[in-house]
Amino acid sequence: MSECFCPHCKNPIYDDDALLCLYCGNSLRRNVTFLGRFKYTKPVYIAGLVIGIVILSFIFFILKH
Ligand SMILES: [Zn+2]
Repeated sequence: MSECFCPHCKNPIYDDDALLCLYCGNSLRRNVTFLGRFKYTKPVYIAGLVIGIVILSFIFFILKH
């Protein structure tokens, strides 16, 4: 889904879970840490969105009936 670049050879890495670069074999620890933070932050926004949609649909359900 998300594309990142190897900090050593600048080749694109398409595998989010890859720990080593497919091209030069160097560690992608920097990118993994960044993606790890991104993965920890994102569900909070998704949960907020889902809760908002549920509340909105509940309000619409009440208004319809
Ligand atoms: Zn590389």
